[in-house]
Amino acid sequence: MSLRRAGLRRFGRDAIRFALAPVGSVVSVRTSAPELVLTYDDGPVAGMTDRLLELLASRSATATFFVLLSRVRRDPALTRALLEDGHEVALHGIDHVDAATIAPDVFRRRMHDGRRELEDTIGREVRWYRPPYGHLTFAGWRSVRDAGLTPVIWSTSVRDGAAALTDDQRIAAARAGARRGAILLAHDNFASALDGVDDGPEPQVDRLRLASEILDISAARGLRVRSLGEALEAGRVVNRGVFVRPRGR
Ligand SMILES: [Zn+2]
Repeated sequence: MSLRRAGLRRFGRDAIRFALAPVGSVVSVRTSAPELVLTYDDGPVAGMTDRLLELLASRSATATFFVLLSRVRRDPALTRALLEDGHEVALHGIDHVDAATIAPDVFRRRMHDGRRELEDTIGREVRWYRPPYGHLTFAGWRSVRDAGLTPVIWSTSVRDGAAALTDDQRIAAARAGARRGAILLAHDNFASALDGVDDGPEPQVDRLRLASEILDISAARGLRVRSLGEALEAGRVVNRGVFVRPRGR
């Protein structure tokens, strides 16, 4: 097939996706399978993501990693290692700047460029986009869909971005939200000046312990830990229309 025809076919597929898309972001999965979706944001980063990969492999778990291109560029090999281990790679942004603060035309271009760059790096199609902080305007949502991506937020969080909490409190948060079809938010990195943001001092988090506890809690409830793409083999997405106002432009 010529490149042009491949491009047209892809355009057609994306146009159909857009037309059929419910307004909003994916928040959970409706599924008959005993599965929980684990997601990691803000990486990958050597020294943490690779250790999480070992842990997940030892427990036969998979996850969806929402990566920042500001990190992918520093370690494309680690990004590809995610796929080699059976995980899913999705886009969290070119950097970690709040989408609600970016002019619509600039955001639109960032979505297209971000998807293309990530797909070029990993050699695979990218399906999902998670906006930093979960902030998406309605215009931003249209740009995400127009770039052929589906926005995903979460139904529960281990709150590992909150500096005021202890790991025991984070584990309690995971325990409260770990149920069939949940999309659980965790982080393999804390976004910083390297990612275009200053979100204060980095929280003290034992990420490996948190991951291990999430796996234990899930196992105790008979839940397999899966990437979003895998969980959708036996389920379908649940959407919620949550939009923020544009600000600070
Ligand atoms: Zn993030």
